[in-house]
Order: sequence, then C-alpha cells, then structure tokens
Amino acid sequence: MKKIIIIGGGIAGLGAAYKVHRAAQADHDITFQLFEKSERLGGKLATDRIPDPETGEEFIVDGGSDSFLTEKTPVHRVARLLGIFEDESPTSDEFKKTLIVKRGRLVELPDGIMMFAPTKILPMATTSLYSWPAKLRMALDLILPRKKVPAGQLNDESLEGFVVRRLGREALDRLAEPLVGGVNGSDPALMSLAATYPSLLAMEQEHGSLVRGFLAQRKKVEAIKKKYPPKPGAKPRTFFSSFYGGMQYLTDRMADEAGRDSMRTGVGATHITRESDGTWTVELDTGEKVTGDAVIVATEIWAAEELLRGVDASMAELLSQIPSSSSTTVPIAFREEDCPFDKHWHGILSPRIEHMAVTGVSLVSSKWPGKTPAGRVLLRAFVGGPHNQDVLTRSDDEIIETVRTALVELLGVRAEAEPLFARVYRWDKGMPQYTLGHLDRAAAIESRVESMAGLGLAGGGLRGVGVPNCLDSGEKAVTKVLSEWGMTLAEDSADERRLY
Ligand SMILES: Cc1cc2nc3c(=O)[nH]c(=O)nc-3n(C[C@H](O)[C@H](O)[C@H](O)COP(=O)(O)OP(=O)(O)OC[C@H]3O[C@@H](n4cnc5c(N)ncnc54)[C@H](O)[C@@H]3O)c2cc1C
Repeated sequence: MKKIIIIGGGIAGLGAAYKVHRAAQADHDITFQLFEKSERLGGKLATDRIPDPETGEEFIVDGGSDSFLTEKTPVHRVARLLGIFEDESPTSDEFKKTLIVKRGRLVELPDGIMMFAPTKILPMATTSLYSWPAKLRMALDLILPRKKVPAGQLNDESLEGFVVRRLGREALDRLAEPLVGGVNGSDPALMSLAATYPSLLAMEQEHGSLVRGFLAQRKKVEAIKKKYPPKPGAKPRTFFSSFYGGMQYLTDRMADEAGRDSMRTGVGATHITRESDGTWTVELDTGEKVTGDAVIVATEIWAAEELLRGVDASMAELLSQIPSSSSTTVPIAFREEDCPFDKHWHGILSPRIEHMAVTGVSLVSSKWPGKTPAGRVLLRAFVGGPHNQDVLTRSDDEIIETVRTALVELLGVRAEAEPLFARVYRWDKGMPQYTLGHLDRAAAIESRVESMAGLGLAGGGLRGVGVPNCLDSGEKAVTKVLSEWGMTLAEDSADERRLY
C-alpha cells in the first residue's frame, strides 16, 4: 500500500486528504496521514459559534475566510460530492451596497462601477466619491491607446501602474487600492496583475479600454441571465457564497469524510528528508519520525520554505521570494438599539489615503442574515494590511478599542455601547503576496516540484489565494503523485461542470 504524508490541515491539505480517500474508495491501494500544527483543522477557514451572553442564541462567526467566489467550480464540486451543496448560503443581495470612507465620512459606491471602472454616466456624474478632474481623467480611458506588448513578452505590470495609466490616480486611491489591494492584503505598487487579475490586462488588449471591456462583460452577463432565468423558488446564485454553518463547515465535512483517524492535530512537521530509495521521512515536533511514499506540503508558503530547504535549497530560495502579509479580523456584535444607522449595505472600504487603522468592515448581519440572532448587529472589521504590518504586536484590547472607536465615528454606533462580544483573529503572514515576477517564480517552483517524484506542493502561495484555488491545488498535488504511480481517477477526466 502506498502512503502519502500530508502536512497542513487547511482547505488545501484537506482537499488532498479527501482526494486520497476517494482514490482509496476507487480501489487504489493508497492511504494518507495528515499532520496539522494547530489544534483545529481548517486553517484560514475558522468558524466559531459564539453564544449571545444574554439569550444564549448563537452567532456563526468566521474569523478567516468568510466566503468563496461562486464562478470557480472546486468548492461546488466538492460540496456535491459531500452531499452539502444545498448547505451553501448565498449573500443577501437586496442590501448589496458598498460604502467608501472619504475624509472620514461614508460615500456610497456609485451604481455601474464594475470593479473600479465606471460603466454608467449619471451615477458617475453625481457621485461625490471622485473630484471632477478625476471623473474626466477616467473618461480618457475611452480614447487612450492600449499598451503595446512586444511579441513573446509577458504582459505584466503593477496594479498601481495599470490603474493610474488607464483611469488616473484618484481611481486608484479612492477605490482600486482598498478594493483590490485590500482583498489581497497587498501594496498596489508591488502587486502583479498578471498573477492576480490577468483578465484586466486582457481586457485592455481586447477592447482598448477598461470601460468598454466592462460594458461588454456586463452585456454578456445580462444576456446569460435572460437566457437562463432563475427557476422559481430556486436558491439565488450570488457572486460570493458561504455555508449556513460558516466556512469551516466545509473543511469539517471534508475531514469527517476523509477520515479523522488519519489526521493528527497539534502536531507540526519540522523537517522533511528524501531518502535514497525515493521514500520520504518527516520529522515531527513530538520527536517522532514518520515515513511515506510521498509527501504533500500544504502549509503557508513560508512554512513550506522552511520544510523544503533540506530537500531542495534552490526551491526554498524561490519560495523565500514570495512574501506574505499579516492582518487581523475582528468580529464584534452589538444590540440593535446601539446601532441606530442604516443597515442596507454589505461593506465599507477605507482607502489608505484616509490613514485609518481599520481597512474595511463587513456588516455580517446584513450580508449573511442567518448567522446572527434577531435584534443583534454583527460587524467584522479588518485591521492590518501591507502598511500596518506591526498590527500583530498590539494587544487584543488595543485592537478591539481601535475597531470600536472607528465604528462609533464612521457609523454612529452609540459611544457608550458595550459590545456583546468582540474577538481578534490573528493571521500572521496569512496572505501570500503575488508581486511582480510571481508567475516566473511560480513556474520555476512548479518545475522543481514536478521533477521530484513523490513531492506535492499545495496551498495559496503559487496559483491563487482564494478558497477554490487552494482546494484545487491540494487535489492537483494528489493527482501528480498518483500519476507517478500509474493511478488515475475517473473524476479527473470528467467535465467539472457536469459534476455539480
Ligand atoms: C483574514 C483572511 C480572510 C480571507 N478571506 C477569504 C475569502 O473570503 N474568500 C477566499 O476565497 N479566500 C479568503 N482568504 C484566503 C483563503 O482563506 C486562504 O488563502 C486559504 O484558506 C488558504 O488555505 P491553505 O490550505 O492553502 O492554507 P492554510 O489555511 O493557511 O492552512 C495551512 C495549514 O498548515 C498548518 N501548518 C503550517 N506549518 C505546519 C507544519 N510545520 N506542520 C503541520 N502543519 C503546519 C497551519 O497551521 C495551517 O492550518 C482569506 C485569508 C485571510 C487570511
């Protein structure tokens, strides 16, 4: 029997474990053993059920990832396999507004903005989000020539370079930076568009303009919606989705199905050795040594670097060139009467030029209504980001107070209101950064992994930080190892869209 050792119990590691389980069920002679350093499985998918101190009713609180992009298929597919597809919960889109902080006040994102590009004239003309010179500068996008990309050269530039070139500085500072940079915890001046949003670069090449490109995209979406209207009574399909039980519900079900008996938590790997006979030895922080026929490293990228240095120093060197940024999320709950503000919105973005420690806020009780008891308001603030990396040196009380003060000032939460609870989730180097040159680095790392039989590398460090990408990476690492052993799974040749 072949044995795969999986290091890391986040969505990537569990994706690998569940795939090995499916391979075993398909009569392949194969097993796995998974080691997770922390006491909980799920990694950045971390859900807590927090009781209301007054009523005992539960809040479902996501401390890490709170959703996934529905246009990417891996989560739906795995949810189908697990029989939990119907447990996916859409966002409540009647309150989908986004608010932007401008000079300490909240301004609604004008209708028709797609990502950060305007597609409707009237809302742009009337919004106070941008100055008039900025609005005119954005309109220049329609006539500016497209960038010339020499044949055979990768079309890449930073988010900052691209947005300022096409739409002007204010478009970057007021929206693209907090929206795109914020989601990725990235500095727009360093972030590689080819590695994160290649569709924007392609849009410029195809349409010669972002505004025209987004208009064409909107038309296409509207035509699809018209052709395939939602079935009456069907669950709405929203841009983002979660699970009614929170994101960790997914990883918990994966762990249950794959078999928790083969998983050990609170046990970290400290060293990996490739033996001369091609097997692998993993040393654990308990002092034990375990051996396997293959090893899949599904940790954060910086942890992978440490583990793989002894196996391949050149690969470790490449891994060390992928930085990661730290952040915290702070779910905080109040009584409804302490929150006398309009609740018809999903999120607040705070641009860097506003110099606020809080970079964003989600109104969880509006976005995911089923996760908060009636009469309560649940917010989730983000503190940290690329220009506030020392956030982790601050105490929980300090961070919570920063958040509470910001909510009082921005939203009008009553200053004397005692939160029902507030919790700080710390994500130390939790978000890998795809800086310029990332695609070359990722390709070089992949080619080294490819050349080493029995090694898999998974997680958000190379080809997408989103939950679906990470899940996919864990499964692909298993496919790589299985194919080296001449094993295939029928599901790998099926059309993914037919599986859910
Ligand atoms: C605050 C935050 C919010 C996010 N929100 C979203 C979102 O809404 N939607 C979305 O799609 N994505 C989101 N992301 C990104 C996404 O959640 C992550 O990229 C993804 O979950 C990473 O999964 P992973 O399995 O690759 O890594 P992780 O979840 O980091 O799991 C790696 C695991 O490896 C373990 N480990 C590390 N070293 C060792 C060792 N030596 N031995 C054993 N175990 C080890 C760690 O303890 C960890 O549990 C968010 C990320 C953060 C930080």
